[in-house]
Amino acid sequence: MSEIVIVGGGPSGAMCGEQLARTGHSVHIFDEHLAWEKPCGGGLTYKATQCYPFLLDNPSPKKLVHNVEIISAENHRVKLDLQHPIVIYSRTVLNGMLLDRAREAGCQVHRSHVHEVDTASDKPRYSIDGQWRAADFLVLAAGARNQFLPGTRPLQRDELEMTQGYFVPQTSEEIIIKFLPDFEGYIWSFPRADHLSLGICGSMSAHTSSELRSHLHTFAASEKFAIESAKFYSHVLPSPQVRTFSDRSVIGRNWALIGDAAAWVDPLTGEGLFYAMRSGELLGKSLAEGCPDKYPARVKASFSAELEFAARIVRRFYRGSFLGCSVTTRMVQFLQRNAVFRQLLSDLICGTQDYTTLKQRVLGHLGGTLSQFVSSVLNFERPASKLPTVTPAAD
Ligand SMILES: Cc1cc2nc3c(=O)[nH]c(=O)nc-3n(C[C@H](O)[C@H](O)[C@H](O)COP(=O)(O)OP(=O)(O)OC[C@H]3O[C@@H](n4cnc5c(N)ncnc54)[C@H](O)[C@@H]3O)c2cc1C
Repeated sequence: MSEIVIVGGGPSGAMCGEQLARTGHSVHIFDEHLAWEKPCGGGLTYKATQCYPFLLDNPSPKKLVHNVEIISAENHRVKLDLQHPIVIYSRTVLNGMLLDRAREAGCQVHRSHVHEVDTASDKPRYSIDGQWRAADFLVLAAGARNQFLPGTRPLQRDELEMTQGYFVPQTSEEIIIKFLPDFEGYIWSFPRADHLSLGICGSMSAHTSSELRSHLHTFAASEKFAIESAKFYSHVLPSPQVRTFSDRSVIGRNWALIGDAAAWVDPLTGEGLFYAMRSGELLGKSLAEGCPDKYPARVKASFSAELEFAARIVRRFYRGSFLGCSVTTRMVQFLQRNAVFRQLLSDLICGTQDYTTLKQRVLGHLGGTLSQFVSSVLNFERPASKLPTVTPAAD
């Protein structure tokens, strides 16, 4: 590969560029903003800091948070202590740090908008300011709104979430997660070094933007978040369905998609930063070895099986019921009562527990009702459209 061009210098593009430049490739990264405050919570779990220790070992401003408060739709509250902190960055800081690493590794980073790409001929082309240029391989890392889809289809409404939020000039020591009645999504407050990212995400096919805004304003008023002087943001977030993983190609002869453009996001939590960085790294590694075709298998082995599992249970999690109450409300009630369950959820949030091995841990360690509850949410043999209403025997 003599020249690799990366469209998008967010976490996925910057990581891919760094990986390739370190192995001696000529890499150009084009981003229309460079380091910018992309709408985001900015939270990275232990999974990410374990894989990329530089996310903790650096002097850049960030917040390490050990406490999470979860609030049900009916306002039941529970606090979790995390064994490993969630590290929360402003995206200007995080993107800047990742782009600096790419530059130091040898990437040439340009502030430019890429208008079009053309992958029909052997050498793919891209256009900037009306001028077409050729490369040897195009990495498409332009995020959730990526328009460059050489050999694949765009994400459909039910594969996307809407998000809205505010950067609130306030600080806090805890993350808040708030569930809502009959709502496929949640509200979050993520404290950063000198402000909060307060936001809401909800399925684009199930909810309207005015619904999201109304929920967010009601919550901000009840929790006394000062949003009057806060900067508003909105963006889209991929929320892959099971079919997304089989229907959409992420690689062709001379191009590949990474990060949000490839829909590598956990549909249950909206976590995408780790998967963006990891997919960038795995594509970079595969290209550096001259074997881009290894990229999909490497992603599957690393994380996409987990995301597919989350896609199977997401509807059941947000829309299902258990003993006459929503799953999310029952979850908070069980968390209030059971320390083992609190530990399990803390591990899931940190990323030390994955979804695919959850069932074994639950069945071995939780009591009757609680293990029936978790099994009813995880039972992916049952079609997600048939939402469970289970009445198990008492503990
Ligand atoms: C509101 C919100 C909250 C979130 N909170 C979290 C969280 O707390 N934790 C978490 O893990 N994930 C979170 N996510 C997901 C996370 O933001 C994304 O998964 C992550 O940013 C994906 O990285 P990326 O590099 O693939 O794309 P992006 O970060 O979107 O980067 C794409 C880049 O491409 C550039 N670009 C786009 N088009 C062009 C073009 N034509 N020419 C040149 N440049 C272009 C853009 O300027 C941008 O810099 C959140 C998402 C949203 C919307």
